[in-house]
Amino acid sequence: MGTVEYATLACHDCGLETQHQLAYAGRLLVVTTCTRCGNSIERDVRERYLRDLRHRVTSKPGRMLRRFRRHPVSFAGSLPRTTVLKPWELLDEIRLVWTAAADARRRQDDGRRRV
Ligand SMILES: [Zn+2]
Repeated sequence: MGTVEYATLACHDCGLETQHQLAYAGRLLVVTTCTRCGNSIERDVRERYLRDLRHRVTSKPGRMLRRFRRHPVSFAGSLPRTTVLKPWELLDEIRLVWTAAADARRRQDDGRRRV
């Protein structure tokens, strides 16, 4: 998981203000989870994350970004040491962003079926 912070927010399920775990990838908020009931809200931030990453990767950003788009996970594993990000940190962020995006999409599909 990326960077984790905590904040008191209103939870719809609990009906009151509870402590929430906020999971960030870089400076983007990806998942908000209520620590009381476990209800979580995922956001699909893949496009913003990729844009953001461009600014964070120092060497050959264009070429690296194209490789990254094609194979995000294997790309993260092969990052040279000269980049700003440590590969394993980036890999954690990518997992977080892509898992959240899949969850968010699944939730959207469920909603459509119910309607
Ligand atoms: Zn809750």
